[in-house]
Amino acid sequence: MRNILLIGLFLFSVVSISAAQDNSKSKEQTTRVVEVPAMSEKAIQYYKSGCVLWVVDTILGFLIPALFLFTGFSARIRNWAQRIGRKWFFIIAIYILIFTILNFLIYLPISYYEDFVRQHAYGLSNQTFAKWFTDALKGLTVSIVVGVLFLWIPYLLLKKSPKRWWLYTGILSIPFFSLAILIAPIWIDPLFNKFGPMNDKALEAKILALADKAGIQGSRVYEVNKSVDTKTVNAYVTGFGNTKRIVLWDTILTKLKERELMTVMGHEMGHYVLGHVPKSIFFFSFVTIVLLYAAYRVAGGMIQKYRNLFGFNELSDVASLPLILLLINIFGFVITPGLFAFTRHQEHEADRFGLEITKDNYAAANAFVRLQEENLSNPRPGLIMKLWRWTHPTLGERIDFCNDYRPWETGQPLKYDHLFRK
Ligand SMILES: [Zn+2]
Repeated sequence: MRNILLIGLFLFSVVSISAAQDNSKSKEQTTRVVEVPAMSEKAIQYYKSGCVLWVVDTILGFLIPALFLFTGFSARIRNWAQRIGRKWFFIIAIYILIFTILNFLIYLPISYYEDFVRQHAYGLSNQTFAKWFTDALKGLTVSIVVGVLFLWIPYLLLKKSPKRWWLYTGILSIPFFSLAILIAPIWIDPLFNKFGPMNDKALEAKILALADKAGIQGSRVYEVNKSVDTKTVNAYVTGFGNTKRIVLWDTILTKLKERELMTVMGHEMGHYVLGHVPKSIFFFSFVTIVLLYAAYRVAGGMIQKYRNLFGFNELSDVASLPLILLLINIFGFVITPGLFAFTRHQEHEADRFGLEITKDNYAAANAFVRLQEENLSNPRPGLIMKLWRWTHPTLGERIDFCNDYRPWETGQPLKYDHLFRK
């Protein structure tokens, strides 16, 4: 289930920024070079401990499904499910219910530390324990509902087409991801936070004017009360079709100056106008096919070799779920640099769009400085960290790009000028 959530995460492209009255945009102010600030002691510590946690989480992603599998525990869960469920669909549903709850309980102390204790320790959160815990229970409920509603489909395909199930499942992931992104902003996200129109109407009017220039309907800009969960800042584009929207965390509205916020909006509008959400759906569906094919090629041999330990003979047995998850996690780890190269490319193009539509390099670079400082980010992470963990270009690279990219000053053509409404 974690993999499904991870893939879901990839689909939400993100960036940030906010507002004080500072509208005088002199030539001097837009061309001044912005230095990448040195990291604070606290930020260095946050980065180092984050690297350790990443290694731990990665190992757990292999270890936990392997334990379910090699101890035969997965087969025992299937036995319980057979006793209670009797019919094929109910056996799968009950297995998924038990498996999801057990995973939730195993990960609960880790999530508590990473998402609650650690965030408070670094001064990045005001979240109450009650909010964290109820959000965790809501997340569990969503996982169970999604799992029970959809996971029987690959198992049906495994039974009906043992040689092509990976392809059919991968193709079906296109409508699945599309549906997930379509309904998430209206049915899932509001379970956790309150979404509404922007509170600052004067600022909203300026954002709508920029949206108009980018060819976006204004009603698509939302504000969310993330300050109940975090002090970090962010903004993102999500939704599909009718639910497509730009969402601003309320934290970014208080921590960025107005001009800085407008450059963040320019970036988000770039994602929106350049169709990054639908492109990501196709890209990650293709990745799903690749991962499932790799799992298919390896799983048969593993079952042959370890069937006595696993307690099942066929991949179409629902007890194989941890095997499929283990293989997806292993192959997913191998191809992560490729996935993130794709997301970093989209983010870079959104940065370019934001600069071209605002032409405010100085404010854009300062917005990234604010991001670095508010979110305790490392602007120049090590190469391994960048390849495996950075979904966005590093903040150092983004600030450098803001300082350098100004083709309009030398009469060079702009890449996205044709998309702007004049
Ligand atoms: Zn972005």
